[in-house]
Amino acid sequence: MKDSNCIFCKIANGEIPSATIYEDGEFRVILDRGPATWGHALILPKEHFSDIYEIEDEVLTKAFVLAKKMAERMTEVLKCDGFNIIQNNGSPAGQTVFHFHIHLLPRYTDDGAKIGWKPN
Ligand code: 5GP
Ligand code: ZN
Repeated sequence: MKDSNCIFCKIANGEIPSATIYEDGEFRVILDRGPATWGHALILPKEHFSDIYEIEDEVLTKAFVLAKKMAERMTEVLKCDGFNIIQNNGSPAGQTVFHFHIHLLPRYTDDGAKIGWKPN
């Protein structure tokens, strides 16, 4: 199901060009336009789900298995020192685009990245 007003639907389905680093029948992985660290990428399902509560469990499972594979490959290629896999739901949690996505965030020693969550 495609939401005609959703920017990530258009990107995921190739209607808007993007810096794609991986694609298969169900997902596109793109570089984030405002990277928090070098190589910051986003996994987008091609189907529209607004958040983790709406996404089908089968697609969710595949998305996180893909996140693990991408983290392994990106760590090899980018030589990063650690990795955050982040998924935001709702505005108070930092979600700004309401098409489910997973952040792939390569981390480097002392990179100083602020990843937008407040533990205290
Ligand atoms: P959220 O805050 O919803 O978890 O993450 C949205 C992310 O999408 C942000 O990191 C933002 O930089 C990125 N983003 C928003 N619009 C676009 C776009 O049109 N292209 C790309 N490549 N990234 C986008
Ligand atoms: Zn969408």
